[in-house]
Amino acid sequence: MEHLTILGAGFSGLSSAYHFSGKSTLYEKRDSFGGTASSMQWKDFVFDYGPHVSFTKDTYVKDLLAKAVDGEFFIKKALTGNYYQGHWVRHPAICNLCDLPPEVNRDALVSFIEAREANELPLKTYRDWCEQGQGKYFADHFTHLYTRKFWTVEPEKMTYQWAGERVARPGLKRVIDGSLGLQSDSGHYFTEFRYPKKGGYGAYSGFWKEAEERINLNLNHTITEIDLKKRILSFAQQPSVNFGDTLISSLPLPEFVRLVSDAPDAVKAAANQLQCTSIALVNIALQEPALLPYHWLYIYDEDIIVPRVTFYSNLSEFNAPPNCTAIQAEVPYGNSRPLPSENVVERVISDLEKCGILKKSAILHAWQVNVKYGYVIFDFQREAAVKVIHDWMKKHEVKPVGRFGLWQYLWSDQAIKSGKQLISSMIKV
Ligand SMILES: Cc1cc2nc3c(=O)[nH]c(=O)nc-3n(C[C@H](O)[C@H](O)[C@H](O)COP(=O)(O)OP(=O)(O)OC[C@H]3O[C@@H](n4cnc5c(N)ncnc54)[C@H](O)[C@@H]3O)c2cc1C
Repeated sequence: MEHLTILGAGFSGLSSAYHFSGKSTLYEKRDSFGGTASSMQWKDFVFDYGPHVSFTKDTYVKDLLAKAVDGEFFIKKALTGNYYQGHWVRHPAICNLCDLPPEVNRDALVSFIEAREANELPLKTYRDWCEQGQGKYFADHFTHLYTRKFWTVEPEKMTYQWAGERVARPGLKRVIDGSLGLQSDSGHYFTEFRYPKKGGYGAYSGFWKEAEERINLNLNHTITEIDLKKRILSFAQQPSVNFGDTLISSLPLPEFVRLVSDAPDAVKAAANQLQCTSIALVNIALQEPALLPYHWLYIYDEDIIVPRVTFYSNLSEFNAPPNCTAIQAEVPYGNSRPLPSENVVERVISDLEKCGILKKSAILHAWQVNVKYGYVIFDFQREAAVKVIHDWMKKHEVKPVGRFGLWQYLWSDQAIKSGKQLISSMIKV
């Protein structure tokens, strides 16, 4: 295998090229590389395409990313807040119940203990998993509300295996300590993160440049058709090319299937079953210092359309001019939860002002960017549908990679590792 063709120049496509010792050609529709983990700018305000920090424990990836920014990154202790009906609660809220009104604290604690005492029923859904591990009261008042806003679906529509470490299910002593105010730390599942000093998270995406001479990166190349039999890629503006024996694709599976016009009906049907969230990002540049110290925060209230807000200028002071603030709010949407018909930017600003997160009078600029592929929804059709598509790709010598090629919940370090693992598996064969 002397040459590889790779679709998409996000972290997984770039990692596949970087870890391949031969030459590779990448095709990317955007005018820059880095994909979902890249950054954008307005004047001197920097925002990512959705909040990104690196909390990988993998030394190999840590070193690779550190090299990409010449060691110019911060290591920060994560400061995360929760907003609940006018109260600020340390994260995760289940471990810090004493920050809530006494009745909420009591009811959440009682329900947590009751859930532990109840006979454990077999878990089926994410709803069961939350209620069994956090208690029904906390699940009803926090986690389920957040699930509806962030995941855009009801908790019983999702499996629970993906949640693992990502959603807090602490032990009894930890919850009691947090209820009585005896906790010595917040109980967050990760304590520190890394973030580039300059250029936003996207600055990490240059990790492949050390191997630049082997990599032919073609930006502004939107693939419009893939002929798997004749091995031809067609583009919106450039002449078609032949891609040879092996193709690596980090394109979202539904996009890949759509581009192959003669994909079998069963494969098209499987692609139609895949669900993910889309996200309207509202970037806000403010001419005042941040009102809150958090790196990011979660909002549970149903009347506030935003589930998560990130303070980019708290992640790095170079993400905004001195005494200014860069904030981003996420408004997830999807088939089960469409975007509100009103003006999203105006609604977000008014919601955030209500929570005391910003003052409208300090806004210099605010705008909306929609991200079509946000988070893969782990519903009950996902596994079987992915298998149908992957089996078909395998028959045609196409190797899927990355978050949307594998249709998994991968962080950026895992996207890098998926490219590395794919290349080593191809070399072993
Ligand atoms: C809101 C959000 C927050 C996140 N937070 C974190 C975090 O805090 N920490 C962390 O480590 N990870 C985080 N992640 C995950 C991280 O972004 C991903 O794991 C990683 O970026 C995935 O890389 P990828 O290469 O697999 O996919 P992508 O980056 O999506 O790459 C796919 C590429 O294919 C290109 N493409 C698509 N269609 C075509 C076409 N027709 N023609 C040509 N090119 C095409 C796309 O433009 C894109 O560049 C977050 C993700 C999201 C959405």
